[in-house]
Amino acid sequence: MRGWNSELCYGSIGFTNNYRTFFSDQCDSCVDVWFSRNCYGCTNCIGCVNLRNASHCIFNEKYSKEEYEKKMGDLELDSWAGLQKLEKKAKDFSLRKPYREYNGDSFNMNVSGDHIYWSRNTKEGYIVNNAENSKWCQLITVQDTKDCYDYTGWGNGAQLIYECSNVGENAGSSKFSCLCFPDALNLEYCMWNIAGKNNFGCVNLKRKKYCILNKEYSKEEFETLKAQIVADMKKNPQKDDKERVWSYGEFFPLSLCPFPYNHSNAIKFVPKDKAQALKEGYGWADMELPVHKITLQVSLLPDKIKDTEDNILNEVIGCDECKRGYKIVKGELDLLRKMNLPVPHKCPKCRENERFDRMTKPRMYHRQCDKCKTKIYTPYAPQDPRIVYCVQCYQAEFL
Ligand SMILES: [Zn+2]
Ligand SMILES: [Zn+2]
Repeated sequence: MRGWNSELCYGSIGFTNNYRTFFSDQCDSCVDVWFSRNCYGCTNCIGCVNLRNASHCIFNEKYSKEEYEKKMGDLELDSWAGLQKLEKKAKDFSLRKPYREYNGDSFNMNVSGDHIYWSRNTKEGYIVNNAENSKWCQLITVQDTKDCYDYTGWGNGAQLIYECSNVGENAGSSKFSCLCFPDALNLEYCMWNIAGKNNFGCVNLKRKKYCILNKEYSKEEFETLKAQIVADMKKNPQKDDKERVWSYGEFFPLSLCPFPYNHSNAIKFVPKDKAQALKEGYGWADMELPVHKITLQVSLLPDKIKDTEDNILNEVIGCDECKRGYKIVKGELDLLRKMNLPVPHKCPKCRENERFDRMTKPRMYHRQCDKCKTKIYTPYAPQDPRIVYCVQCYQAEFL
């Protein structure tokens, strides 16, 4: 749901430099835009797709300011019923308009993957900002990242990081480690090393150097001992009960993962059921969600925020989707009033899932540009009915 440098936006995904942009996807520098996709520099637009610097457009059709305002009033965007009607229409309209080979901005150079911004020479990235000379990186959300490979989260001055997760903030030359920051340098097989330098196989250390298994050595001792351990890891690699080999050069084995698969975000990106997850060696923890007694059925919610009174804060509303109870908190109610939007009929989790479902997932496919038939490598599967253009065809037509 990447959002960047934006204010008063709601129900949107992939937005940059926006103000008052609602229920829209991949819009950049837009103001007062509703149910739109891939619009740049637009103001006062509803249900528009692939427009540049447009204003007062509804479903890509231009109106005078007065006509636009009249039509906007008729759409009743301040009512739940009005939003539902328009959402469906906008979705159908959007599906008939071309998508670009990947989502991102036009400041990229020589990239592939999806949700890529201000990057160059970066291949098969997923949610990446300001990366350079990198491959298979994901969730790199803070600038800058350089010369990294197989790396998840989060950048911020990361360089030469390999097979690491959540290593960032001036981290450099580190491998097979997780949760090490800031200023991590030359770490291998480390977890939770804060400002560590030249450590190997260490956990929960702060500002330590030349440590192996949390014990400090001289530089010479460290290098000799580390070389011996690495040689042994290659000679006698760890095997799990599924005969998978975890030798030197691989990330930590799955058995060390502290998170059950179904409690982590991995299940959203790569869905697996319990049997499949357990079979592949992931953890799983069944959980019972707390049950709250519903005090207000969703059908009794006022259609407009102006008819919603403060006592809504005392109610437990039954979610229209999952039927579980959810509450509206004061800050949320204030924000909805400021935006003139109705109280949502779904709980926060269901709304988050809906936005997540609107995003492409970190999978790439070979298919053809629907215009020039050139081969493209894209997150849209060949059987996906959406019209997908290569970057050149897309820019020729819409930029
Ligand atoms: Zn729900
Ligand atoms: Zn093309």
